[in-house]
Amino acid sequence: MPRETYADVMLPLALPETLTYRLPPEFCEAAQPGKRVQVHLGKNKIISGLIWRIHDTAPSFEARDIISITDEYPILDSHQFTLWEWIAGYYLCTPGEVMKAALPAFLKVDHRDPKRIRKQQQVTDNQSPSALVPLSQAQQQIFQNIVSGFSVTPVHLLHGITSSGKTEIYIHLIHQQLEQNRQVLYLLPEIALTTQIIVRMQNVFGNRVLVYHSRFTQVRRLKVWSQILAGPDGSGQLILGVRSSVFLPFRDISLIIIDEEHEQSYKQQDPAPRYNARDVAIILGSIYKAPVLMGSATPSVESYQQAHQGKYQLHELNERFGGIGRPEIFLADSRDARKRKKMQGPFTPLMLRAIDETLVKKEQAILFQNRRGYSPYIECQECKWIPKCQYCDVSLTLHRSESKLECHYCGYAERVPNRCPSCSSTGLSTRGTGTERIEEDLQLLFPDARLARLDLDSTRSSSAFSRIITDFELGNTDILIGTQMVSKGLDFSKVSLVGILDADQLLNYPDFRSYERSFQLMTQVSGRAGRRDTQGMVVIQCSDPSHPVIQQVMDNNLVAYYQNELKERHQFGYPPFTRLIRLNIKHADLKVVNEAAIDLAYQLKQALPGKVMGPQSPVVSRIQGKHIQNILIKLERNPELLIRKKAIALLIKNFIEKRTYSSLVIQADVDPL
Ligand code: ADP
Ligand code: ZN
Ligand code: ZN
Repeated sequence: MPRETYADVMLPLALPETLTYRLPPEFCEAAQPGKRVQVHLGKNKIISGLIWRIHDTAPSFEARDIISITDEYPILDSHQFTLWEWIAGYYLCTPGEVMKAALPAFLKVDHRDPKRIRKQQQVTDNQSPSALVPLSQAQQQIFQNIVSGFSVTPVHLLHGITSSGKTEIYIHLIHQQLEQNRQVLYLLPEIALTTQIIVRMQNVFGNRVLVYHSRFTQVRRLKVWSQILAGPDGSGQLILGVRSSVFLPFRDISLIIIDEEHEQSYKQQDPAPRYNARDVAIILGSIYKAPVLMGSATPSVESYQQAHQGKYQLHELNERFGGIGRPEIFLADSRDARKRKKMQGPFTPLMLRAIDETLVKKEQAILFQNRRGYSPYIECQECKWIPKCQYCDVSLTLHRSESKLECHYCGYAERVPNRCPSCSSTGLSTRGTGTERIEEDLQLLFPDARLARLDLDSTRSSSAFSRIITDFELGNTDILIGTQMVSKGLDFSKVSLVGILDADQLLNYPDFRSYERSFQLMTQVSGRAGRRDTQGMVVIQCSDPSHPVIQQVMDNNLVAYYQNELKERHQFGYPPFTRLIRLNIKHADLKVVNEAAIDLAYQLKQALPGKVMGPQSPVVSRIQGKHIQNILIKLERNPELLIRKKAIALLIKNFIEKRTYSSLVIQADVDPL
């Protein structure tokens, strides 16, 4: 009897495995891994899947037939399969979940040979890159070290202060690869915040630049997908994209650049796979045998440590290009000013003086406040009632211009009440300060100043972001007030003052990474001051000027900061000395979530003695109507990690399958941020 042929098919579902189908003889020739097929699922569902493997091992059950083959050509190849498998194993999710995240929507449904995939021709202008600027001596040295280092160490870390010319070095490295008709992947944390980089790359590389972004239309994304799948046609391809671009169907990659490698937005929070695109990109590099270059002015503690252990090659660029000096940093003691009743709203006298001088000199300022809205909560003066979200365990933020109270976790909003619903008093007062309030107070103090606000609320429409940035670049705005959006990758030429209004809020956040984040944010925001022809000034308001992190930012003392941070992490067993897995256990019923979490933690503690902590309630213990409990698992960084992860995944799977707690959600977050 002739042997049957089978195909293992990946479906975009949270199934632990692929499903095996029979390949009818007439399809055998056309079938190929990476092509999409139509298959039956359940009683009467037809679904689109992806051929993963073709073989002749009959499964133990009666396999159903594949209905049809969708694609003329595979839409991805074995490199991507290897990557998907790694992601599923590392991040404790299923390959189907990876598939869901990886493929653009058009490829998940059955567009036959969609928009003629693979046949997409790249129109190249063959513009010469004569637009390359010569590197400075320091840049040239690093460029050469990187190029020669690539053959020895696959991963490199370029630690260069803001404005030292890192991007210029990237451009030269990219140029070298495109000249050889190769593909280069350039990862950015957020496209919207880095439009300046795109323009800069397009200026040099013209339409060899392909931008991939989840905010683009499906048609546009599919076009980029097809161009990358077709490969470069003579003059190389530079793919600029955010985290999801690690899933693109590269033909070959000869270089991966990870800009601002420390950025949190490289980590996908929801849904699974909860991957960190920086770490995935390093794996991608190893799969394609392509060197990886990460860059940052404030490298993450993880990458810094890897570099110092020699696992990554470290390159340091400590001067700003063109010899611009570092900004001068001043501390404004807000506790003291408050005691002496010298505060004007959220401003210390020093901050106000600095703003005033900047305006007089007709220069620009950026003010950073990491909280949007008018005030984080309101309170009844009589009975101390505070409005809370109905669905989450948080107070509602006042947005005064829209006279609403909004939940920043689930989006729930209600009108601001005229009276306290608890005691009917009309004395409701605001507490704390957000960007909206800063803007309002500042306008009262400086009525002639032209202000703009850059935060989630002011950039809801797609054009708003670039309008605010362009206005500021053109000098139509004097002061830009913003959340952490202002700290990212923006290059303004006339900013002479950067003000950080509330450093305490950053430092006091209850998380083991809060010092790392504070240092990064303050250093990055400060880096915006005094670019090109202006000597900058930074004013940091805080209640404890002697705080070690404040001092380290002041002195630009990265060594002290890293040493301190590493010492503490080592002492308390946090990354980079361990790997963390956080389990989020969710249920609408508090009793159920508590019982389930205790039960699961007990089982995990039996399996992994001494490595499991909790359950405990997170800072916000109810979101969108679901109560949450956390279990934290700390694993050593050794080869056993993968085995332990498999054991954890299995234990969770069995726990859920027993169905003791119905509709319980368990999410695994590996390397949580
Ligand atoms: P970074 O990426 O480290 O913040 P950039 O590459 O953006 O630094 O450089 C900062 C500024 O200096 C930019 O305006 C850039 O055009 C300019 N610059 C950097 N290197 C050179 C160079 N070799 N020649 C001319 N201008 C340069
Ligand atoms: Zn009241
Ligand atoms: Zn809410």
